[in-house]
Order: sequence, then structure tokens, then C-alpha cells
Amino acid sequence: MLLYKFNATIITIMARPKTKKSREKELWRIISEYIRRRDSIDGYSTCFTCGANKPWNEMDAGHFIPKTSHSIKYDERNIHAQCARCNRYMSGNIHNYFVNMEKRYGRKLVDELMAEKGKTKKYTDLEIDELICYYKDRLNNIKEGE
Ligand SMILES: [Zn+2]
Repeated sequence: MLLYKFNATIITIMARPKTKKSREKELWRIISEYIRRRDSIDGYSTCFTCGANKPWNEMDAGHFIPKTSHSIKYDERNIHAQCARCNRYMSGNIHNYFVNMEKRYGRKLVDELMAEKGKTKKYTDLEIDELICYYKDRLNNIKEGE
């Protein structure tokens, strides 16, 4: 009887349609892992803004233009591995972020990303699912290369 009840619960959870919120949560979980692994060598990521070197799973994935700018929220050029100190306690360590963005990508891209600041975009479920597939694929490529 108990087992029956347990199975019924699992089926209910699995059958529940995905909400936009749960889709976006899944997408961010995948992007965050992808970014932190992308920015790592032998399992250690270097903080984009202070150079601290830590295991990738102890790092954050931090945005250059804050996450509230929805149009580039999921643009991987706007996200890099950051230590918790820079990302959470120094509000992204934005001065160093700017300097290092300019060094890595050049001023043109920095200006392009900054022009997106404040622009909003409403993602459709399909767009979110496509991004999930895209970043899952990128993440799997990295994992296979390890
Ligand atoms: Zn840092």
C-alpha cells in the first residue's frame, strides 16, 4: 500500500508540466556548470575578476551585465567563473570585470553588451528549451574532453 502511494507520488511529479520558472531554473543550473567548467583547468577555475583559483564547483558563474538584463542573461560572453567574494560580496567586482572584458573581447563587444543593459526580453518556453539543449551539448563536450 505504502509502495503504491510512493509510486503514485513519483508519477504525479513526473507528469507535472514544466513551468517557465522550473525551465529557467534548469537552464541556469546547466549554464552555470558549463561556465565554471569552461573557465577551469584540471578541475580548477580562475576567478575572472581577482584571479583566485578554486575547484570549479566552489565557484559562482557571475554576470558582467547583471542578470536582470534579460536580453543577455544567457549570453555566455556575459558570464564567467567568479569567486563568491567577488560575485556576491563585491557586487560582481565590476571595475575589474570591465577591465578584463575589454582585455579578452575588445571594446566593441563590451559596448555591445553594455548597450543591452536594461533591455528586457521575454523568453518563450521553446526558446528556453532550445537554450537548455544548446548548453547541455556544450557541457557534455567539455565533460567528454576531461
Ligand atoms: Zn574573485
